[in-house]
Amino acid sequence: MTLYVHKYGGTSVGNLERIKQVADRIVQARQRGDRLVVVVSAMSGETNRLLALARGVQDPPDSRELDVLLATGEQVTIALLSMALQQRGCPACSYTGGQVPIVTDRAHTKARILDIDTGRIEADLAQGKVVVVAGFQGVTGDGDITTLGRGGSDTTAVALAAALKADECLIYTDVDGVYTTDPRVEPRARRLDRITFEEMLEMASLGSKVLQIRSVEFAGKYNVPLRVLSSFVEGPGTLITYEEESVEKPLISGIAFNRDEAKLTILGVPDRPGIASKILGPIAEANIEVDMIVQNVGEDGSTDFTFTVHRNEYRRALDILRRVCDQLGAREAAGDDTIVKVSLVGVGMRSHAGIAAKMFDALAREGINIQMISTSEIKISVVINEKYLELAVRSLHEAFHLDQSPA
Ligand code: ASP
Ligand code: MG
Repeated sequence: MTLYVHKYGGTSVGNLERIKQVADRIVQARQRGDRLVVVVSAMSGETNRLLALARGVQDPPDSRELDVLLATGEQVTIALLSMALQQRGCPACSYTGGQVPIVTDRAHTKARILDIDTGRIEADLAQGKVVVVAGFQGVTGDGDITTLGRGGSDTTAVALAAALKADECLIYTDVDGVYTTDPRVEPRARRLDRITFEEMLEMASLGSKVLQIRSVEFAGKYNVPLRVLSSFVEGPGTLITYEEESVEKPLISGIAFNRDEAKLTILGVPDRPGIASKILGPIAEANIEVDMIVQNVGEDGSTDFTFTVHRNEYRRALDILRRVCDQLGAREAAGDDTIVKVSLVGVGMRSHAGIAAKMFDALAREGINIQMISTSEIKISVVINEKYLELAVRSLHEAFHLDQSPA
């Protein structure tokens, strides 16, 4: 018998009507003979509401107490869904993370799952019950409630699917799959039938917010086939899986972009060993994450050094860089927070030359200036001015024929 883990996000359980619709869908799946474990998020907006309550009392809230509070959101939905299933004659039982138990480390508000005891779930499944588990939460070895970080229900679902050796983990959400790019930017964006874990990781980390990144890492590590699909319209969704040799790989799977970056440059730095660490050391000490890094070839003993950080950290990073500039005797520290990063992603790049040239050509034809470039095995990213974002995405979508499904 097939075992599926279903996960329903906040909008899918946003009100009683929707919870009942989810129950109907589960009843149907069970009638097909599937064994089911269902993970749910809190009702949409609930986690934010709880966060605001906490901040109204203590700011920042104590992280242990915050977890006690935030975990209540999911506890509401598991109970309601279980009741809706029972009301439909479907035997069902709900569990909080602590009841399963899903054991995590002690990193409150961003805990990692260490172990899942599947005993109770398996006993219920054997009795023909649908098991409903609260997403986003776990428990430490000494019984303290933890949460897994925003969007953490995806990770709960994948971790349960791995622990139970489920046949597939289905993530039901408000979009009907993973698209070649954001359809709000390019209306001709196409739903992908499948994408590899690696590609999905790149798409997710580059700003396509369909799944929590950690859930994709987890799925890749334990080889759990993941499917993203809509809880509102029927359809096959997108299967996220390992790379299959027999499947014809599209050259490019998608275009991701990130509007949340800013660029910093230090000009005329003396070109000596240790310069990169003198510049980035203080940035790292301030806990600011650096994404792209470019250093020019030195000329007359000096060089330029550019990197990007999250836009929220722009001011802080620029202040640090100005200090570093004085200390190093560099010419100038400058920054730009009106940039975006646009990336082509595809495992097919590994075996094909000329992708980068084609990308740069498409951008050049639109008169878009490229400020930075970085590449990895399956990705090429460029930094451009933010006003060209839509144009860049659309012209790349067109140049690589992403609106047409690969033959
Ligand atoms: N309810 C949590 C959040 O809003 C977890 C989740 O939805 O995955 O982040
Ligand atoms: Mg979510």
